[in-house]
Amino acid sequence: MRVFKFGGASVKDAEGVKNVASVLAQVGHDKTLLVISAMGKTTNALEGVVHNYFDKSNELNASLQEIRKYHNQILIDLFDNEEHDVFFDINSHFDDLEYFIRSNKSPNYNFVYDQVISYGEIISTTIVSHYFNEIGLKNTWLDVRNFIKTDTNYRDANVDWNQTQQLITKNVAKNTMYITQGFIGSDPNNFTTTLGREGSDYTAAIFAYCMGAQSVTIWKDVPGVLNADPRYFENAILLNQISYREAIELAFYGASVIHPKTLQPLQKKEIPLYVKSFINPLLNGTSVSKGADLEPHSPCFIVKKNQLLLSLSSLDFSFIMEDHISEIFALFHQYKLKVNLIQNTAISFSVCIEDKFNNFGELKSILAKKFKVSYNENVSLYTIRHFDENSIKVVETNKTVLLKQISRETLQIITKE
Ligand code: ADP
Ligand code: ASP
Ligand code: MG
Repeated sequence: MRVFKFGGASVKDAEGVKNVASVLAQVGHDKTLLVISAMGKTTNALEGVVHNYFDKSNELNASLQEIRKYHNQILIDLFDNEEHDVFFDINSHFDDLEYFIRSNKSPNYNFVYDQVISYGEIISTTIVSHYFNEIGLKNTWLDVRNFIKTDTNYRDANVDWNQTQQLITKNVAKNTMYITQGFIGSDPNNFTTTLGREGSDYTAAIFAYCMGAQSVTIWKDVPGVLNADPRYFENAILLNQISYREAIELAFYGASVIHPKTLQPLQKKEIPLYVKSFINPLLNGTSVSKGADLEPHSPCFIVKKNQLLLSLSSLDFSFIMEDHISEIFALFHQYKLKVNLIQNTAISFSVCIEDKFNNFGELKSILAKKFKVSYNENVSLYTIRHFDENSIKVVETNKTVLLKQISRETLQIITKE
C-alpha cells in the first residue's frame, strides 16, 4: 500500500484535478490511498467566514457564496452532465455548512472554526472522488473522521493513536484505491477537529504508520525539498536524498514544504517519504529515509516571517532564573505561543515566538505585572543549516540584525526588514 498526498495547490482548479488524474496514470494507482486537501486557498477563505461569523459582519453571506461559486465553477469545468450526483452532494455539503452557521450556539471560537473549516476538505475530496470514478479511476471515498480520532484540542488536535490504529486496521483494506481528507479528525463525541494548518502531510503519515505502508509521496508544486524556499531565495537547489533527522530539522525550523509532524511516525517504522513534483511526476524528487544524507551538506536556508521578538527583564534587577523561566514557559504553553528561539542574559530573557492564535495581547498584560516587557513585531527568523561565510552574507545583506545565535550546525538570525 502506498499513500499519496495532494495539497491545495495541486487541485486549485479543474485543470489541477485533471493533472492529478494524469499523475496517477503515469505512476500507477493500485493499492493507493490518496489524502487530499481543500482546493486552492479554500481554507483561508473559510477562515474568513469564521471571522465574519464572530464579527457579526455583513460580509458573512457574501464570503460563503464566494466559496460556493468557486467550487461550482470547478464542477462545471469537470462534469458535462449537470444531473450528475456530484452537484447534489456538493450542494448538500454547502447547505449543511450554512445550517451549522445559522443554528450554532457555541461561543467557542476554536470549536466553531473546526466545524466550518473542515468543509474545505470534505468538499474537495467529494469532487475529486466523483470525477475519478467518472473517468474510470475507480475509488472509494472515506470520511477520515471515522478513522482519525483526536482529543478536543480544537485547531491543533492531538491524535489518539490507539483508537486510530484500531479503526484503520479494522476498516481500511490494503488492496484498493481510496480518497480521503487531510487535516481533519474527530473527537470522542464525533465533533470535527483539525490537526493544525497545513496538516494534510501529517494525515498521510498517520495512515502510512497505521497501515504499515510501503511509502508516502507528497506531491508539490516544487521539484522536491530544495535548500531554500524558492519564493524567497534565488537559485535554490534540489536535495536528492536526506535523512529523517535532516528533514525533521528543516521542517521544525520552518521549511514549509513538509509539515513538521509528518516525519516522526514515518521514521518510527522507517517508511520512506518522497517529495515530488506534480508537474513532472516522473522526476525523482527528494527521498527522505534512514541515514541517507548526501555529504557534504550545502547550506539550507529557512525563513519564518511574522515572528515576535519578546524580551523580558526583571523589574528589580534580580536575575531571571529557572523559577521565572518555568513560569514564563507555562504561560506560553497556556496561551499557545510557539517558541522558536531562546536567549538569556543575567537579567533579561529573549524569545522569538509565533502567535498563531492571536493570544499575545492578552498574555502581554499578564507578563507586564512581573516583568519589564519589550518586543518587536513582524520580525523574520532566518535559519541556516550547515552555514558558511557566504551563506551568512546572503541573509544579512540589507537587513538589521536584532539577534544572532550560532551552534555547530545551525545559525539563526532575527531581522527587521
Ligand atoms: P501543499 O500544496 O501541499 O499545501 P505547500 O504550498 O504547503 O504545498 O508547500 C509547497 C511550497 O513550500 C512550495 O511552493 C515552496 O514555496 C515552499 N517551500 C518552503 N520551503 C521549501 C523548501 N525547502 N523546498 C521546497 N519548497 C519549499
Ligand atoms: N487545507 C489545510 C490548510 O490549508 C490543510 C492542508 O492543506 O494541509 O491548512
Ligand atoms: Mg499547504
